[in-house]
Amino acid sequence: MAKLSIRDLDLTGKRLFVRVDFNVPLTEDGATITDDTRIRATLPTLRYALDHGASLVLASHLGRPKGKPNSKYSLRPVADRLRELLASEMGRAVTVVFATDCIGEPASTSAAALAPGQVLLLENLRFHAEEEANDAAFSQQLAALAQVYVNDAFGSAHRAHASTEGITHFLQPAAAGLLMEKELTYLGKALESPEKPFVAIIGGSKISGKIDVIDNLLDKVDTLVIVGGMAYTFQRALGVTTGKSLVEEDKIEVAREALAKAKAKGVQLVLPVDNVLADSFSPDAQTQPWDSSVNFPADWQGLDIGPHTVEKISAIVTSARTILWNGPAGVFEFPRFAVGTNAIARAIAANTAATSIIGGGDSVSAVNQAGVADKMTHISTGGGASLEFLEGKKLPGVEALTEK
Ligand code: AMP
Repeated sequence: MAKLSIRDLDLTGKRLFVRVDFNVPLTEDGATITDDTRIRATLPTLRYALDHGASLVLASHLGRPKGKPNSKYSLRPVADRLRELLASEMGRAVTVVFATDCIGEPASTSAAALAPGQVLLLENLRFHAEEEANDAAFSQQLAALAQVYVNDAFGSAHRAHASTEGITHFLQPAAAGLLMEKELTYLGKALESPEKPFVAIIGGSKISGKIDVIDNLLDKVDTLVIVGGMAYTFQRALGVTTGKSLVEEDKIEVAREALAKAKAKGVQLVLPVDNVLADSFSPDAQTQPWDSSVNFPADWQGLDIGPHTVEKISAIVTSARTILWNGPAGVFEFPRFAVGTNAIARAIAANTAATSIIGGGDSVSAVNQAGVADKMTHISTGGGASLEFLEGKKLPGVEALTEK
């Protein structure tokens, strides 16, 4: 990796400002954390820093408080959970202090009082509009809290905010945390030097959100599999009608161009060969199997890939050495239309010789739902950020880190 890592630094006696992603789901009243995966994901970095004699100032956003304090989006419950998680991670009690504001007196006094091995969690960065505005004075105030900057929030790296970009103008060195480093290593290797055959499976609802990913991947992959709602826009581009299936009329031409690019590049572009059609968008709709080469009945819609497509994708996945997956193959929120998505998850899991990368968002839920998360090489923690990375874009929060 071209960027400085926390592992390159001497941390002894240093106070680190660590940008983390503690944007966890909470109950409606904001009092209880319903899923602490994101807190757990940062533990290796926090442990590494504490083991090497640092003290930590942690900062995160939580939800969308729109630039004003709002107790529903307070990080205080996260401080309590973090204290428990760190104690079990470190095998000893760890002091975790909470500051009621991320700048000003509450933050600076608590930061100055930190001893090595201690942790301070700052209140939600987005209680200040200056965070998302990437305000220089605000960035400088954050920078003043520590001596070294570490970014472990890959999921926020596609945004140039004060805590991800602005702060690095006032606080150097700026290094990647272990989680950030892992994301950049796996996603970077897939794009730059993948072991071949490299197969990407792209699904989900719409082409519009992923066309830049498709376009960039067509320069890299051996095989591109398109599933989910977006496959129907491709099917229309091939001249087959799709009934009431999800189609973006204004993207049919874009789909046609992608098909042409695949052909020109010698990339195998695979579309569903059969589907599960439903007579309504509902979990208990009537269904029937349907061949993709035959016009769909006008009142029916495709909500999942069919068994022949599953077989075809499984065979492709089995012989791959690098597999990248983003987006479900059907409306997997309805169990009856999750069959294709679950089958893809299991097929990827079964290929233990391949590097398997799950690119954030719904595919992560799908892998968890199929119970195969521990079989994947890397599961990205950043939905939007991993998509932008796969589009080939430079992420501001990564660019801002110090070169090695
Ligand atoms: P995205 O946010 O673009 O990754 O899309 C994820 C969503 O795509 C999920 O909520 C799925 O329910 C939806 N989806 C997948 N396949 C279909 C389909 N055939 N028709 C409608 N929606 C779909």
